[in-house]
Amino acid sequence: MKIEDFSALVLLTTKVGDGNMSFFKGEKEALKNRKKIAEKFGLNLDNFVVLYLQHKDKVYSVTIKDLGRGAKDTKTVIKADAAVSNREEVYLSILTADCLPIAVYDPKTKTIGLIHVSRHNLKKIVKSTIEALKKKFNINPKNLVVNIGPSIGPCHYEIDLWEKVEKELTRLKVLKKNIYNPRICTFESSDYFSHRKSKSRKLPDNRFATIFGPR
Ligand SMILES: [Zn+2]
Repeated sequence: MKIEDFSALVLLTTKVGDGNMSFFKGEKEALKNRKKIAEKFGLNLDNFVVLYLQHKDKVYSVTIKDLGRGAKDTKTVIKADAAVSNREEVYLSILTADCLPIAVYDPKTKTIGLIHVSRHNLKKIVKSTIEALKKKFNINPKNLVVNIGPSIGPCHYEIDLWEKVEKELTRLKVLKKNIYNPRICTFESSDYFSHRKSKSRKLPDNRFATIFGPR
């Protein structure tokens, strides 16, 4: 799925068409699937920067030296829950199945950020990412455009993470009208993997990818 009404490119890989993207759930297959998705959208997999999620608050500022890290192996992966970049070559990527993949974009400076939010790190990681964008790239949160990707909804989870994250973003001065949340619940949608659904149905616990970069 390609989100076109966003000023940068957000790609979401799908369950059936694209398959599992996590090396930890089957390395050979995931590498094959990653190569396929890159080819499908005319992207170079060596320009991907993939995060290894920690459920903590570390934000990684990507430089040109990081290109390809975690894209084809697990050894070079970056351990962080958010990454920011203003390099036009960089495609940030995270792998999720219920947690919130959040793409943040500043049209003025063409800076991008990709955040992994779970119940464990919600408050800390959103704040530390906005802080990093302000500090490193001199960004005004009022200009930020935010896209909340497919994640588990309040219909299938004890906590309304969507509402919490939207509240936190507005508290940090992101404008409500700039927060785009199509409210796609991973448990309900047949397009994305859901950790909770896989567990309840004893299915392989796979991950889909959010890939975020410039057009
Ligand atoms: Zn649901």
